[in-house]
Amino acid sequence: MISGMKTSEDKTDVLIIGAGMAGLTAAAELKRAGRSVRVLDKGRGVGGRLASRRIGEASFDHGAQFITTRDARFVSTVEGWRETGVVEEWCRGFTEHADGHPRWRGKLSMNSVAKHLSHPLEVGLEKQVVSLHCLQNRWRANTNTGEFYSASAVVLTPPVPQSLALMEAGGFLLPPEMHTRLAAIDYERCLAVMAVLDGPSLLPLPGGLAPAAGPIAWIADNQMKGISSVPAVTIHATHAFSLEHWDEDRQASGRLLLSAAAEWLGASIKTFQVHGWRYSKPMRVHEQACVVVSQSPTLVLAGDAFAGSKVEGAALSGWAAAEAVSRLNPFHTAGTKAGN
Ligand SMILES: Cc1cc2nc3c(=O)[nH]c(=O)nc-3n(C[C@H](O)[C@H](O)[C@H](O)COP(=O)(O)OP(=O)(O)OC[C@H]3O[C@@H](n4cnc5c(N)ncnc54)[C@H](O)[C@@H]3O)c2cc1C
Repeated sequence: MISGMKTSEDKTDVLIIGAGMAGLTAAAELKRAGRSVRVLDKGRGVGGRLASRRIGEASFDHGAQFITTRDARFVSTVEGWRETGVVEEWCRGFTEHADGHPRWRGKLSMNSVAKHLSHPLEVGLEKQVVSLHCLQNRWRANTNTGEFYSASAVVLTPPVPQSLALMEAGGFLLPPEMHTRLAAIDYERCLAVMAVLDGPSLLPLPGGLAPAAGPIAWIADNQMKGISSVPAVTIHATHAFSLEHWDEDRQASGRLLLSAAAEWLGASIKTFQVHGWRYSKPMRVHEQACVVVSQSPTLVLAGDAFAGSKVEGAALSGWAAAEAVSRLNPFHTAGTKAGN
């Protein structure tokens, strides 16, 4: 359920900041445990890096391309999504040396996985949290829309530099050693091109390829993948190319990437768009699946920088954060003070 605009202070039991895989997983788990949970995201839709876009008739996944599963709990979660028609197997690898592990795609798009997860949750969209304050043993999140959300426990799931900035803006200082370790987590950048073609691409089946060299890290055919009714390719630039061209005109960078991809396109480009992922993938992952920043009132950091730089890692981190909140803040009544 997507909630509307609130004008007064909103009191909740647990506040989750970020409606990507980590935040939605944590929220769903806490709600299942009987907690009152509210999720806030600055975006116009849920999903974060589980992102999809339409250009006319064409559909693109332009963030995460597929989901892999290793952990037993995540394997059975994804199996449940398959049974309910949320995901389908795309393939078991992309080269002749395919490793045999299933690559799952959202049946409609990667973003539909996030939409499915968010369905039973209270999610406030276009609400950018600008600061997080600790007041009288509760957290108060202020948004750019001038609203205040008060909670006895908070899970922060934005990329780590953004989470640190929110705490800093609220005057909440971390112990120096914890701050140093968290501040050392940086992310790769990624320029993503979405191009509509006037005919089928030349990519080999099953429609995804990671070139060994050059400015392109990944190129995928969304029609072959099964999510676009017309020819549509996604191109992800390498971190090196993205960093070098980050401040340049996005259409110009897009044209460079499209010409580097010419051998796989095989058709004219009808139109294209470029998206820049400032926080694409963490370059290093923290050794804990989530970090408890404060026990009372409870504040936990989660996301793919904690349990693995993939959709699966984000889900595992979300679960770890939910477990930490349940352990440290077992209070069950919405709108009241933490009982520990
Ligand atoms: C180009 C690209 C390709 C990828 N390919 C794959 C792949 O093929 N397979 C795979 O497993 N993984 C892939 N990944 C990684 C995967 O997408 C991520 O690991 C995962 O989606 C991260 O989920 P998350 O919840 O930790 O973070 P996010 O999805 O980033 O969610 C964080 C959320 O917080 C919100 N937010 C941030 N700041 C604020 C604020 N101040 N107030 C309110 N909301 C805020 C954001 O809007 C966002 O929705 C890829 C990522 C990218 C970018």
